Amino acid sequence: MKFIIEKVSKNSQARAGRIILPKGEIETPVFMPVGTQGTVKTMSPKELLEIGVQMITANLYHLYLRPGIKVIEEGGGISKFISFFRPVLTDSGGFQIASLSPLVNIKEEGVQFKSHIDGSTHFFTPENVVIYQEKIKSDIGMCLDICLPYPVEYEEAKKALTKTIEWAKKSKEIKSREFNLFGIIQGATYLDLRREATKALLDIGFDGYAIGGLFLGETPKLSYEIVAACADLIPQEEVRYVMGCGYPEDILECVKLGIDLFDCVLPTRNGRTGTAFTSEGRIIIKNAKFEKDYSPLDPNCECYTCQNFTRAYLRHLFISEEILGPRLLTYHNIYFFIHLIKKIRETILNDQFEEFYNSFKQRYNRNLT
Ligand SMILES: [Zn+2]
Repeated sequence: MKFIIEKVSKNSQARAGRIILPKGEIETPVFMPVGTQGTVKTMSPKELLEIGVQMITANLYHLYLRPGIKVIEEGGGISKFISFFRPVLTDSGGFQIASLSPLVNIKEEGVQFKSHIDGSTHFFTPENVVIYQEKIKSDIGMCLDICLPYPVEYEEAKKALTKTIEWAKKSKEIKSREFNLFGIIQGATYLDLRREATKALLDIGFDGYAIGGLFLGETPKLSYEIVAACADLIPQEEVRYVMGCGYPEDILECVKLGIDLFDCVLPTRNGRTGTAFTSEGRIIIKNAKFEKDYSPLDPNCECYTCQNFTRAYLRHLFISEEILGPRLLTYHNIYFFIHLIKKIRETILNDQFEEFYNSFKQRYNRNLT
């Protein structure tokens, strides 16, 4: 994996670059739709490519439980198995274990957990998590980490962080030379822990650095402070990734702080439940005011959904619980995120990022309408 920086913005840390991977080049900043179970829900790989998706994420916790590492390995690896022939990043599952497993027992050597599907007991270690990700041929893998909920006491955060760093060392030791592995910076909402984590991971040395455990309910201001504190310590030539950062306003803010990679379930999850992201803000398509609204979902969008369907029809699909509704809204939402990040990249390259940042903040309404 190679990372080339093409341009750094004059008045901020925003940068445009390129990640070169065997399965293709990724223009950064980039937004990766989430394909937890090896599918970006409701979308075919063909549609993802048509929208301009460059890379997706999948999740080891889910894939390990179902269909199982062996099935994917023998099926030729993740890209072949799911028929998405672009890079796939896999998350280690630390966050999913913490949020989904009915029973979690963190030990010195790893984490024991019960499957949320059938209650069976499993054990993830930093080592086997790397091996599994290598076996399924992830293009970028993540270290096993301990992701804590928000809020959490300082002492607990410190204890978990010590373990996350120890595990990061073990992950690095076991990985093969050609496997791309990112470290995950934890430390909850404590700036000193976050800085300590960043330095420790840099000492170990990874192919990229992710900031995890954010956007879990803390104020956006605090999230940005933590992102800034970590990003400032990560050298310019390294890839920076903020995990789970998904509101357009948060992405824009993090790009400004020098972040390159983003992923979030928001465009897909909201698409399925009837919330659309538009150039002016989010709208709930089921609202009565759209009953006879024959305008497109977003008049400024060129996606298939906006070019062909009205808000009134989309509302009808959702009210009637027709499966096409979630599909069309997801299509639009992913298109919206991909084109937003493309626009951001273009403005960085053209020295217009700050103007774009200001105009977006003026135009975009954070609240639901
Ligand atoms: Zn659209």
